[in-house]
Amino acid sequence: MRSLRVEYRGQAHYCSSEDELSFLALSAAPWRGGTPTGLVIPQSEARVLAPLEPSKIVCVGRNYAAHARELGNEVPREPLIFLKPPSSLCATGDAIQLPRSSERVEHEAEIGIVIGRRLHHASVAQARDAIFGVTCINDVTARDLQRKDVQFTRAKGFDTFCPVGPWIETDLDLRTVSVSGRVNGEARQHGHAQQMVFPILELLAFISCVMTLEPGDLIATGTPEGTGPLQRGDIVEVEVSGVGTLVNRVE
Ligand code: ZN
Repeated sequence: MRSLRVEYRGQAHYCSSEDELSFLALSAAPWRGGTPTGLVIPQSEARVLAPLEPSKIVCVGRNYAAHARELGNEVPREPLIFLKPPSSLCATGDAIQLPRSSERVEHEAEIGIVIGRRLHHASVAQARDAIFGVTCINDVTARDLQRKDVQFTRAKGFDTFCPVGPWIETDLDLRTVSVSGRVNGEARQHGHAQQMVFPILELLAFISCVMTLEPGDLIATGTPEGTGPLQRGDIVEVEVSGVGTLVNRVE
């Protein structure tokens, strides 16, 4: 099933969908117990929003060995985690705004995991049961500011620096998921969940021992090699197999 959020006649609705033609409105987010309201929204009258409103976005750095090396970093011995603010979220079709303070903004195509149930000091088995679904994320990064600041907050935290969507797919086998990044139709990145330094379930268990993961929270699981700069006018795509394609232009 697809889970998404759309704007329809001036109001935001969480929805589910089996096809792309119509969306069944829900009373609340599905991970908060939302049920169908009976409203059916035609695709042609809906604008797709970011598919969730997380309390936090937890990201994982250097989780593919080849990407760690391309930036001149060691492969970490334990997961390297950082946060993006919820204010950085945007939807498919929205523009990524290049900030004046950076001269090098890069794309990072990533597999996104959406939490369905609260996780606190979880085991790998509990983490497996708590996943709601999978989505596409672009962890947009001002690479020059990341190097200058050492801290990641500014470089990763600008408004529009977290495109997510277009929706969440709930029925995927995590072991077979892969992610691709394209700029202006040209392939730039490709990675498979099997190549991760720390597998998805281990990441969730690890993070839950640092901070409680709430339903609707979003995890960006790291980017494969091939990250590169974005210029004004570029069209950047992130495709996760079995989910769909997140498309954003750069302004
Ligand atoms: Zn990243």
